[in-house]
Amino acid sequence: MLNTAALAEPTTRPVPADENVLLDVRNLKMWFPRRKGWFGRDVTYVKAVDDVSFSIRQGETLGLVGESGCGKTTVGRCIMRVYEPTAGEIIYHQRGGASVDLAELSRQALIPYRQEIRMIFQDPYASLNPRMTVFEIVSEVLRVNKLASGSELEERVAGLLRRVGLRPEYMRRYPHTFSGGERQRIGIARALATNPRLIVADEAISALDVSIRAQILNLLKDLQDEFGLTYLFIAHDLSVVRHICNRVNVMYVGKLVESADSGVFYSYPKHPYTEALLSAVPIHNPRLRDKGRRIRLQGDVADPANPPSGCYFHPRCRYVQDICKTQAPPLHNVSNAVLDVDGNAHVAACHFAEELNLKGVKTLTPSPSPSGRGE
Ligand code: SF4
Repeated sequence: MLNTAALAEPTTRPVPADENVLLDVRNLKMWFPRRKGWFGRDVTYVKAVDDVSFSIRQGETLGLVGESGCGKTTVGRCIMRVYEPTAGEIIYHQRGGASVDLAELSRQALIPYRQEIRMIFQDPYASLNPRMTVFEIVSEVLRVNKLASGSELEERVAGLLRRVGLRPEYMRRYPHTFSGGERQRIGIARALATNPRLIVADEAISALDVSIRAQILNLLKDLQDEFGLTYLFIAHDLSVVRHICNRVNVMYVGKLVESADSGVFYSYPKHPYTEALLSAVPIHNPRLRDKGRRIRLQGDVADPANPPSGCYFHPRCRYVQDICKTQAPPLHNVSNAVLDVDGNAHVAACHFAEELNLKGVKTLTPSPSPSGRGE
């Protein structure tokens, strides 16, 4: 049995609700049971996501970052209801002003929302059915939901392919005849087919060639400008996130450990884990390079079924002190002002967030504008 008392614990929410909020994730938990012992009687829980709360505003790009196994992909899959969340709310604010908790809807009731919240997957090779033509792949959601048929369906698919930079003449071809970048464009066309409001991009460019990544990022930004899209951009590469995200959330062992506006996040991190992640961001300008800035984290991400006591990051933290080993630091506001100009709080879960002078990434260029486009 799950400990329902633990499930109900309140947490600090990084961003206050306002009328521009599109999605409000509250106290989300995704615990996977792991059975051990005779006949699997002993059950422990892998706490892949443990009490995570955040909001996404209409038209912004929110980055969700961390190493493999930190729970960021699980958050995306809970929002899409690929996984049934163990607890928590996923409040979706609809166009008319009404709100609905996606976490408690039946599969049937979810159908209309699946058209408004779409996903772009990491692997453009595995995410497209090799037995279906591009036309069948992109049109499937339109056909199944009876949104178009006949020649109108064909026109819609042709328009979508054109919009993502593919030639409509190729719509009868199979995915294997396209390159990785082209396949990802097909995946984007499929996601766009239903005029979504929110797109969950799960490591959408990680599997692509470095030379192709910039093209796909630019395409995503252009589509955001044109259709007013909102993105939850899940990634492990902070140098990529920097180019597209307005705000960044960092996860570690299923918990949110820092959240800030992109410019503040990169220049003034407040959590040692963020500092370590940022130290791996390549600096191409020799004037900004800082010798010895790379922080090599020892060991792996802790086991979410058996995390360390106190601060989960303490076995790997170079600033660890005694209190860190016994007391879990709460996620709290660490900005001088309560909120920044965009109304975002800078929050971090570290006992010494206000005292440590952590290194960020030196930059000559401003952070992305609210449209997500760099200056
Ligand atoms: Fe490091 Fe302690 Fe802060 Fe955890 S609470 S990140 S161990 S300094």
